[in-house]
Amino acid sequence: MRIDCHCDTVMHSRKELLWKNPQCHCDFHRLRQVVDIQFMAVFPYLDKVNGAHSGQAPLLTEELIDRLVEAVALFPEAVGIIRNQEDMLRYQEQQRLGMLISIEGGEALGEDLARLDDYFHLGVRAIGLTWNYENSLAWGCNSDKGLKEGMLLGIHDGVKHFGMAVIERANELGMVVDLAHLSYHGFWRALGVCQKPVLVSHGNCYALCPHVRNLRDEQLKALAEYNGVLGISFVPAFLNEKMEQTIEDILQHIDYGVNVAGIDHIGIGSDFDGVDTLPQGVRDCLFLSYLEEALDKRGYDAEAINKIMGDNVYRVLMANLPERNHL
Ligand SMILES: [Zn+2]
Repeated sequence: MRIDCHCDTVMHSRKELLWKNPQCHCDFHRLRQVVDIQFMAVFPYLDKVNGAHSGQAPLLTEELIDRLVEAVALFPEAVGIIRNQEDMLRYQEQQRLGMLISIEGGEALGEDLARLDDYFHLGVRAIGLTWNYENSLAWGCNSDKGLKEGMLLGIHDGVKHFGMAVIERANELGMVVDLAHLSYHGFWRALGVCQKPVLVSHGNCYALCPHVRNLRDEQLKALAEYNGVLGISFVPAFLNEKMEQTIEDILQHIDYGVNVAGIDHIGIGSDFDGVDTLPQGVRDCLFLSYLEEALDKRGYDAEAINKIMGDNVYRVLMANLPERNHL
């Protein structure tokens, strides 16, 4: 199974262009060549500068979900929305690209837990509690900015009551809880509360690049202990602090993650279409097949490559998603 657990293509492409859009890093046409399942993020922010406006976030979320669902409906033989475990296997057999709708930021809920059920019925199967900032669920990674390592604990509660309720309901419904973008303290609280294996859909290793979005060694180890997976991303700022980033940097983060968390806990979360620039040598989603070759050259055996390229994330999905449609 080949799975990429994060891309931001939906908000950058008109519905009619989601099939083929050379302006974007991903479109259905190219994704079909490299993955079985693509997480499609729905980002409830108008833009990264102006942030989310509480009143608009749910509306924007629905609009983006509709856009994706309608685009998928235009190509029923080639693409499908993944709603349950059966869909994953069926689509793979039918060689259809599986789309996994994932909300990136709890702002989408406003402060209404019932919205989580609404989104589930619309097809959403993963939810990230925060983007970079504090919201009604939890504190985002920027809440930690500027703080020294030793001071990180105890500055806030990590996850709020509403966030706890969201995690609990997501577990009941069969929705993956995504800890990417969460604050350091929030990571621990959420990990302790969540009853199912979690995903950190896109992020990298702090030891190689000290960015607030990256996971420290103790987080990587805990993620493994709780049977979760980190999707290694291609975001230049998360790879290293130098001016230039290369494919070698991506491979080093994979190596490091595998060494610390173990081969069962590292996946891929590209963040295609979520960044303006990519590392040298990475142009679009077709890079994923090259990455597979590069892992092979680096000495990973077939089983290890399968795990990194999707089987680990597949395990998290199987542990979370409902078996079949019970709607
Ligand atoms: Zn993101």
